[in-house]
Amino acid sequence: MHQFYVTDLQKSDTNEKLGLHQFLVTFSDKTKCRIFYEKNPDWKISSITRLLSVPCPICRRDYYCNCLDRFTDEIHQEVQDSGLLPE
Ligand SMILES: [Zn+2]
Repeated sequence: MHQFYVTDLQKSDTNEKLGLHQFLVTFSDKTKCRIFYEKNPDWKISSITRLLSVPCPICRRDYYCNCLDRFTDEIHQEVQDSGLLPE
């Protein structure tokens, strides 16, 4: 199983009306991804995408892939465990 360690969570955009929150996540190996969260009232990942400028955390390629979609639950768990998600 792939392990993710979240070292940074940076808020990049919020749409309060829709309850959508966009975050930039940095993992311990310096890879990054963009997560769209819904808060209603609990945090739930609505989608997760790579930043095209950084290789994929899983397959290490730098072109389009869907790896992160398979790890939504793991990544959400890591984000929660990191304690970086706002209340
Ligand atoms: Zn990949």
